[in-house]
Amino acid sequence: MREFNQFIGGGGLGGLLSAALLAQKGQKIFLAEKLPFLGGRFTSIKHHGFEVPTGAVHMIPHSRKGPLGQVIQQDLQLPLEIRDLENFTVWFLPQRKPIRHRRFWGILKAFPRMKQRIFVFRNIIGGVRHSELHSESFQEYLEARTEDPYIFQFFNAITGFALSLDISELSVAAMYRFLRRLHQKGRPGVPIGGCKAVITALTNYAQQNASKLQKNCELIKLEMDGSQIESAVCRDLNTDEEFIIEANQYILNLGHPQVNQLLSKSHLPYRLPSTPIARGGGFVYRSKTSILGGSVVAQFPENKYVKGAVEPSASSPDLAPPGEHLLLTHQVFKSNDVIRDTRRARDELLTTFPQLREEDELCIHTFYKDWPVNYACQGKDLPNFSSEISNLFFVGDGYKGNDGWMMTEGVAYGVKRVIRHILANPN
Ligand SMILES: Cc1cc2nc3c(=O)[nH]c(=O)nc-3n(C[C@H](O)[C@H](O)[C@H](O)COP(=O)(O)OP(=O)(O)OC[C@H]3O[C@@H](n4cnc5c(N)ncnc54)[C@H](O)[C@@H]3O)c2cc1C
Repeated sequence: MREFNQFIGGGGLGGLLSAALLAQKGQKIFLAEKLPFLGGRFTSIKHHGFEVPTGAVHMIPHSRKGPLGQVIQQDLQLPLEIRDLENFTVWFLPQRKPIRHRRFWGILKAFPRMKQRIFVFRNIIGGVRHSELHSESFQEYLEARTEDPYIFQFFNAITGFALSLDISELSVAAMYRFLRRLHQKGRPGVPIGGCKAVITALTNYAQQNASKLQKNCELIKLEMDGSQIESAVCRDLNTDEEFIIEANQYILNLGHPQVNQLLSKSHLPYRLPSTPIARGGGFVYRSKTSILGGSVVAQFPENKYVKGAVEPSASSPDLAPPGEHLLLTHQVFKSNDVIRDTRRARDELLTTFPQLREEDELCIHTFYKDWPVNYACQGKDLPNFSSEISNLFFVGDGYKGNDGWMMTEGVAYGVKRVIRHILANPN
């Protein structure tokens, strides 16, 4: 009899959601996380009294209506409140008042000219429900139909902020699926207490049934027996001791480059296909006054670098000290010169919001290499299962199920597929 039902490598959102959903069904889990904290890119670190994200800007893309909200509130019934943003989006255009809309269709208001609205309705948004699938990129699709630069800027702002991708990196099919989900499920929400509150609730839940979640513990190798994984070799990073965990199933939440390194080191006969990763960066600012005027996603279509920003402390004031606000921006990195791009993006941000002061910058995020925004570009997801090794599974943002769910919504969707499969095929 094995001590654990499942072994999970990696304690990001994907690993913790898996652990909690398995614990709910009475499974006993061992989870190994190499860092001294759980949550990976979906938590925060306290800095000068602010909850500064390790990645996610404290947003759940479809609030309570998407797969993550459903796992949290319906499947696990965690004691967490998710508050919808007041508006879908607020568009900031030079020399104009900010344009706000609460519903998806309000997006058309962000096009100053009627001709642009008709184009977008006919060619893009009106096609959401009965889309044909094209193999070209969304940029090529637009180029074949319009020369209006604002249309390109507009969609680049949306995908740059939400997916950290340029429209040239996204297929038309992936763009349609993504817009369809926005249309169906609506605006984002902020968990009260931010990402860390989600991680804490999942951790507490997963620790039921004597499951073990071990921090500072690195998965270094998998051992095979026939066509199955037999054990995981881990290293305790506090003592440098190696130990072995045996389980029925092995779930990896490491990101596909790390998974392939591990499989190669373990001499296993399987590799994940490679896929490009989405890179981006952001600024974290403090402010005594609200910069965006409430809990919104702000988009700046005419900016070159900073495409969007949020102020999650407007929904969850505990993310900032009393009387202060937390502003988070996001931008795509196109070049490898992160320092130059960061400098230019800062200049642009301070021009967009002259009331921001450079000395109020709390930190800069440069997500890159082992800490990208997404391990697979939207629509280029990898399989959740290994066809050659029957008890090996993958979760996390490389494995979203290719159904238009962005970011953590896709993580939750992919996790649910894996857990359903494991519970239906226990051995
Ligand atoms: C700047 C930025 C902004 C974002 N904003 C949002 C947002 O607002 N909303 C949203 O929904 N999503 C957002 N995302 C995306 C979201 O953060 C990710 O989709 C999600 O956190 C990915 O979770 P994961 O479990 O797949 O991966 P990770 O969080 O990367 O977890 C993987 C874990 O595995 C651990 N690990 C790696 N190798 C080993 C090993 N050998 N042994 C043990 N442990 C190991 C890592 O330390 C890590 O903790 C954002 C991401 C970034 C970077």
